[in-house]
Amino acid sequence: MQAVTRQGMDRTRSLGRSAVPFQLRVLHDSGEITEVTARAVIDASGTYSTPNPLGSNGLDPLGLAEVADRISHALPDVLGRDRPRFAGRHTAVVGAGHSAANTLITLAKLAVEEHGTTVTWLIRNDTAARVSASEDDELRGRASLGERVRRLVDSGAIAVIDGFEIIRVARTPHGVDIAGSRRGAVAHVDADLIVAATGFRPNLEMLREVRLDLDEIVEAPRRLAPLIDPNVHSCGTVEPHGFAELQQPEPNFFIAGMKSYGRAPTFLLATGYEQVRSIVAWLDGDMANASAVQLTLPSTGVCSTGDASVQSCCS
Ligand SMILES: Cc1cc2nc3c(=O)[nH]c(=O)nc-3n(C[C@H](O)[C@H](O)[C@H](O)COP(=O)(O)OP(=O)(O)OC[C@H]3O[C@@H](n4cnc5c(N)ncnc54)[C@H](O)[C@@H]3O)c2cc1C
Repeated sequence: MQAVTRQGMDRTRSLGRSAVPFQLRVLHDSGEITEVTARAVIDASGTYSTPNPLGSNGLDPLGLAEVADRISHALPDVLGRDRPRFAGRHTAVVGAGHSAANTLITLAKLAVEEHGTTVTWLIRNDTAARVSASEDDELRGRASLGERVRRLVDSGAIAVIDGFEIIRVARTPHGVDIAGSRRGAVAHVDADLIVAATGFRPNLEMLREVRLDLDEIVEAPRRLAPLIDPNVHSCGTVEPHGFAELQQPEPNFFIAGMKSYGRAPTFLLATGYEQVRSIVAWLDGDMANASAVQLTLPSTGVCSTGDASVQSCCS
């Protein structure tokens, strides 16, 4: 799907708007572009295809175009088809979430098998709080990721550079010079490759003709945002929510799934299943089921706030 609009109505036209069907422009595998109409739209297109830039300012760092071929996006298949790319090389993994953790673990394993493979982990905060080995994490697999990364860091298999905010990248004969601001000074990391595991953001371009009310910080539906904003909490838990919280000013239009969390990183599949169940019940006129939202999510056990003045959800 390339774009959503209302039939014959751009975003500015109001009169009789809700009675007019949606029109979706669809690009087919054959290259043909067609348009289909719909009574309602649930945008569950995820965020995976729009990763966050490497720059700590939210933009691509200066010089990115000249090193684009030396950057891999989140979750390369390090021990599989991408093995030749990483074997014997020094890779800088950027990001502090679970995608970074997965890549660090596989690169450390590759380093044992392939001589000359080394790994540096670049994080912009002082600690990678979300990849902690919390004993209270109710998802055992997630907790074990943190534990494994911690052990690899402690053993020296992964070199960590914290407080590193990338500002510029430049091509070197064999790789990339990564320049960053660190503790008030400019620091450099010389790597062969970069893995950008900096998270994801929603693609809002296809929704330019749709009336949206999104939070200005996380770009999630406004009523959902306070429940998930990582500045407020990082518990991974969220209150049960459904059609009511996800409704947009554009009648019968919803954003669900990973995209409903905007830039917040804590989405779990169970949330999306319950969101869509509630929305579909509402579209079907079944208010009882639409309103009966039930959601119990496993806590990460890492209940910190980035801002001490903010009341933690987890306190
Ligand atoms: C690395 C990683 C690991 C995760 N692990 C877990 C986990 O273990 N457990 C868990 O509960 N959650 C996990 N999550 C979080 C989340 O549950 C998943 O990201 C989940 O896949 C999100 O589901 P979704 O349907 O919203 O989006 P997606 O799974 O990304 O699906 C979106 C779909 O929309 C399609 N699409 C995109 N753009 C368009 C378009 N313009 N037109 C038409 N189709 C489009 C895509 O091709 C895709 O098929 C993980 C997330 C990541 C990034």
